[in-house]
Amino acid sequence: MTAIEYAMFRILRLFRKLPFNILGIGNRKVIFAEYFKDFEKVAAVKGIFGEKTSEVLSHLKVEFSWIMGYMYVDGSDGHLVISKGYLNTGNKTDIYLDLIHELCHVKQFMDGRELFDPRYDYVDRPTEIEAYRYAVQEARRLGLSEERICLYLKTEWMGEGDFRRLAKSVNVLIP
Ligand SMILES: [Zn+2]
Repeated sequence: MTAIEYAMFRILRLFRKLPFNILGIGNRKVIFAEYFKDFEKVAAVKGIFGEKTSEVLSHLKVEFSWIMGYMYVDGSDGHLVISKGYLNTGNKTDIYLDLIHELCHVKQFMDGRELFDPRYDYVDRPTEIEAYRYAVQEARRLGLSEERICLYLKTEWMGEGDFRRLAKSVNVLIP
């Protein structure tokens, strides 16, 4: 098994533990650790929350929603909102890296930081750069290529210039 195959194996194993009834869950909130198993053992997540990792994940509320898009941290109470459509059909590696990214925002929210500071463009916002750095660090640890990491960083609503600025900020080489 190559490093990348092993990485995929590990990611898919995390997702296999997801209960099947996510699409059927109404709008009530659930607990992160009950749906995303073993994330407290992921090095990047431990890097974010330190010794409080298990405690945070067993209290963090998640809302599976029919929103368009991907996932975000709700700025009113710090809970995680995840698109059911994305979870259902999105690329598992991207979803996994997004979860790492959003968990960093959860920590920032807990620390009282402003997640949506309008003084910055998205790719220049310090909270975003920090969250992307965690995701990139985890992507590298899993053995993803710079090319694949670029694919992850470049979302459809991001212009080429923004993408290049973000890649530079998180030290990803554009092939
Ligand atoms: Zn973000």
